[in-house]
Amino acid sequence: MKVTAFSNNLFQLTRLVAFNCYLVREDDGFTLIDTNMGGQAQAIMQEASKLGLPIVRILLTHAHIDHVGSLDALHDALPDAQVAISERDARFLSGDKSLDPSEPQVRLRGGYPVCKTKPTLLLHEGDRIGSLEALATPGHTPGHLAFLDTRDRALIAGDAFQTQGGVAVSGTFELLFPLPALATWHKGLAQESARKLLALQPSVLAVGHGRMLSHPQAAMERAIRVMEQSLVKEVRKQSHVA
Ligand SMILES: [Zn+2]
Repeated sequence: MKVTAFSNNLFQLTRLVAFNCYLVREDDGFTLIDTNMGGQAQAIMQEASKLGLPIVRILLTHAHIDHVGSLDALHDALPDAQVAISERDARFLSGDKSLDPSEPQVRLRGGYPVCKTKPTLLLHEGDRIGSLEALATPGHTPGHLAFLDTRDRALIAGDAFQTQGGVAVSGTFELLFPLPALATWHKGLAQESARKLLALQPSVLAVGHGRMLSHPQAAMERAIRVMEQSLVKEVRKQSHVA
């Protein structure tokens, strides 16, 4: 895997150009955020050990296959590591793909594999895990989480944004890398979540797909404007049909 350091605390591990997971340094070891596609467990553990620390916890931004693909193999190899995901997306790991009555009744998109690993911690908005604060950012998936490092405001945003093929809010179709858009459940919620993340004034935007971006405010604002236009167009189209 390709390793890119943003700081002494944040390392991006990349597989096949555009598939990222992250190591966040804590006093007791690394927190791994997301597990990449299947077959990456050994490579992820090797990179952590080269950086000199064991992986002590695994956080998941959401339950899509390219983020939980190596979860079971990592859990087998690291049975003592805590495994945390939002309470909402945890249901997908167990094979429950139902929507709550309170949620928009829109078809789920993207692959949600069943995992044998049971999370040891179910997360909600505002929960602290080491230096990281969990941020409910639904839209890409119903229970999507982003994580803000409270030490330096580094934002690990999962698929709430992408930078591969252009900086975009999840759900915006980017011709050069359309995967996140094709897997996005609800664009309107994704847009609300994107605004919430922008308001946090992150120092770096670290996403599931694409390179890390320092001082990301202007690019995030532009991406939110583009999404706004596409949402307005969709509403117009729908009212025309009606
Ligand atoms: Zn995803």
